[in-house]
Amino acid sequence: MEYRPRCSRCGSERRVEVPQSVNVALAAEMKERICSGELFSWTCPHCGTVNLLQVPFLYHDPAEHLMILLSATPVSAEDVPEGYIGRRVRTVGELIEKIKIFDAGLDDLVIEMCKYVTCQELARDVALRFLRMDGADGEMTFAYPGRDEMELVALGFNVYEDCAGILRRNPQIRDSVRGLAAIDQHWLGRFFR
Ligand SMILES: [Zn+2]
Repeated sequence: MEYRPRCSRCGSERRVEVPQSVNVALAAEMKERICSGELFSWTCPHCGTVNLLQVPFLYHDPAEHLMILLSATPVSAEDVPEGYIGRRVRTVGELIEKIKIFDAGLDDLVIEMCKYVTCQELARDVALRFLRMDGADGEMTFAYPGRDEMELVALGFNVYEDCAGILRRNPQIRDSVRGLAAIDQHWLGRFFR
């Protein structure tokens, strides 16, 4: 799909090609470009500014039975193929985070629960983002925007297990997930008012 975005700095127009969907089983090299954000970035030839293009995009990983729709606006998609996980994200950053969570073999509902309890513990409403899981003990690293730079928070895998337990004791949370669901802090917050 061809787009004609304008540079955020100098306003000059550029033709940019971004596919509307990628099946990573058929185009494995595209996954790198998605996860680095490069697929959605373009450099202005006039002023050198790197711009991010936020356009609708469908990520499809048939091996993981995973479909993630990038769309700034809600979509009415109740059905995903049988046995599939369907998600909707609003930004490229959220798309990359979801791919990292599923690639690590983790459950994104549990990850959102981890963020929720961590914010409560920090007594701050910060936008935590999953970065990675390391080593045999499964330590998870999250990032959030600090005053000048990104701050990191490390959580032990016991937090993940505790949060998985909270979801098991509250099955209505998981039962509410349908179609291309937007699983984020806003969604989870509805259950804890
Ligand atoms: Zn420019």
